[in-house]
Amino acid sequence: MSNKKRILTGIRPTGALHLGHYAGALETWLEFQDSYECFFLIADYQALGDNFDDIDKITDSVKQVTIDWLSVGLDPSKSNFVIQSYVPEHAELTMLLSFVTPLGMLERNPTLKGELDQLSIEKRTVGFFNYPMSQVADILLPRADLVPVGEDQAPHIEMTREVVRKFNRIFEPIFKEPDTKIGRVPRLKGIDGNNKMSKSKGNVIELRFSEEQVNKAVMSMYTDPKRLKATDPGTVEGNPLFQYHDAFNPDKEKVDDFKKRYREGKVGDVEVKKDLAESLNNFLSPIREKREYYENNPKEVEDALMSGTSKAREIASETMKMVRAAMKIDSYTSKW
Ligand code: ATP
Ligand code: MG
Repeated sequence: MSNKKRILTGIRPTGALHLGHYAGALETWLEFQDSYECFFLIADYQALGDNFDDIDKITDSVKQVTIDWLSVGLDPSKSNFVIQSYVPEHAELTMLLSFVTPLGMLERNPTLKGELDQLSIEKRTVGFFNYPMSQVADILLPRADLVPVGEDQAPHIEMTREVVRKFNRIFEPIFKEPDTKIGRVPRLKGIDGNNKMSKSKGNVIELRFSEEQVNKAVMSMYTDPKRLKATDPGTVEGNPLFQYHDAFNPDKEKVDDFKKRYREGKVGDVEVKKDLAESLNNFLSPIREKREYYENNPKEVEDALMSGTSKAREIASETMKMVRAAMKIDSYTSKW
């Protein structure tokens, strides 16, 4: 048995992964995969919340996300890749924890509020409303010490800590409060200028994009709407073009020079965009090569998922024994 501390984190299978996932999450996962025992979850229960009517999308996305993980260098011989619903204890723990969780914890969750506001009435399901609760259970099932996520998920980790304190006080102190680690770029903007690049908003540059797709996406990017000509002074702060340069262009001097000239109205958007597209293509090129390999070797992709999922099931069953014993719901008849 490993005595390393544990990480649990995950991604919803609602599409292929994008640059925001890399800079906000995957990069941290890669950094920690040697020093922690990691559980990387494909959160399909969570995806069902607003995609119950599109199982084909979830099915394809489970594959795409796993290939993306392998392509960026997550290694199934070091880390556990887990399909959430193949470990049904996730659902059981979600339900049990929901009994100690006041409605207010969900009602005042700012991320959940924002996401619900953007869903149509028929997609605003009880399951979607409850997804932060299921995330609490995801984290507590392997008794994780650390949860690396993008900034939008931070309220859910705070909620996890509150639920832990409550559960431990009411029953037995079996859970520890996990820490959060926010990625290098807490929230990468969308190519449309929206404050978050998101699979479901379609404002993304996917890790699997071809060179042409990257060029096209970058050329269409939202920049400073007040700037009509290259000679107009431009705004760098909050401009996604420069957020991406800061995140993915290794030549910091060049980026500083672009920023200076942009502010002075001495460089056109096209020049700054062309250079960004080149940096992104350099960054994505080795990922694309690995992706091609895994696309041609689907058995390796499946094995990666199944071995991690079976390890997660062992730990889940240990935790559920502890939970049932702490709640004293494991021995009704012995007290008769
Ligand atoms: P969806 O739109 O379906 O919710 P998503 O793009 O938000 O998809 P998730 O699966 O919800 O992706 O998030 C997976 C992880 O990636 C989380 O830790 C989340 O915080 C992080 N993340 C997602 N988008 C970004 C982003 N634009 N910048 C930084 N981190 C992000
Ligand atoms: Mg999301």
